[in-house]
Amino acid sequence: MTQKTDHILEARNIKKYFPIKGGIMKRTVGHIKAVDDLSLSIVKGETLGIVGESGSGKSTLGRVILRLLEPTDGRIYFENEDISKLKNRQLRPLRRDMQIVFQDPYASLNPKMNVQELIEEPLLVQTSIKKRIREEKAISLLEKVGLRADDRLKYPHEFSGGQRQRISIARALSLNPKFVVCDEPVSSLDVSIQAQVLNLMADLQEELNLTYLFIAHDLSVVKHISDRLAVMYLGRLAEIAPKKNLYENPLHPYTQALLSSVPSTDVLNRRQKIILKGDLPSPANPPSGCGFRTRCPKAHDRCAVERPELMDAGEGHMVACHLYA
Ligand code: SF4
Repeated sequence: MTQKTDHILEARNIKKYFPIKGGIMKRTVGHIKAVDDLSLSIVKGETLGIVGESGSGKSTLGRVILRLLEPTDGRIYFENEDISKLKNRQLRPLRRDMQIVFQDPYASLNPKMNVQELIEEPLLVQTSIKKRIREEKAISLLEKVGLRADDRLKYPHEFSGGQRQRISIARALSLNPKFVVCDEPVSSLDVSIQAQVLNLMADLQEELNLTYLFIAHDLSVVKHISDRLAVMYLGRLAEIAPKKNLYENPLHPYTQALLSSVPSTDVLNRRQKIILKGDLPSPANPPSGCGFRTRCPKAHDRCAVERPELMDAGEGHMVACHLYA
């Protein structure tokens, strides 16, 4: 089924539940609701940043959107085509257009392959282009990500963490994708290197007209690269807005708490730090009503009995909180 919109990607009512097995018979005794009825769309050429604590479901969402994990329910449209139910064989051509950069460049690069082989591997699997062209492409990609042509004969262990992530990016770009899920690509890097890799990704986006879904656990990381930001909590969207609106006027108490812990250089307008009580509840046993109510400083009676849905707060700003109903 196809539908016409300006979105390169649209996810509708996505659920991803992982079964919990128990007893001698290993029966399903419950579910971890990693993503629970979440909808969002991404416009061609933009970067949508997704932020949330560890366990919020953001990485699972990225993998479901790419169909690396099967959705339990919901629809995924890529360039207006419903890809939710496509079989592996039908997904194969789409894999060229949709790529992922993983968090850990140490684990995601095969240590037995040299850089040339690592970058050429997707081309070998997905295309029939000749060896000489593949080699030229690998050199060109290495130079694009700030490495030298000579580096192609080295192995991953010969590089620093930042350089390895550059190799991962070159590999992800080898098939000329349109859409890239960036799953915490700078979280494992030193702060000084993070900015270099983020700048590289922003430059490549402009040069190659890429669309990014950029996942992070820290609002300060996604601030510069994102056009819009979505905040996830317990598998659901708490808030989504254009970057400026979200930073200047956060509506959801969870977003307000996250932003209050981002270091600010603006001495006159520093936010008062909001300390959240407790930990993220288990997605296997989420609280009734609003998932955030056990930690929310503004929780009231209604929050325990009714789950807030995303509401339009104007100018593309949506929030799921009863305070704005
Ligand atoms: S719905 Fe209630 S508990 Fe949830 S964020 Fe809003 S005020 Fe807090």
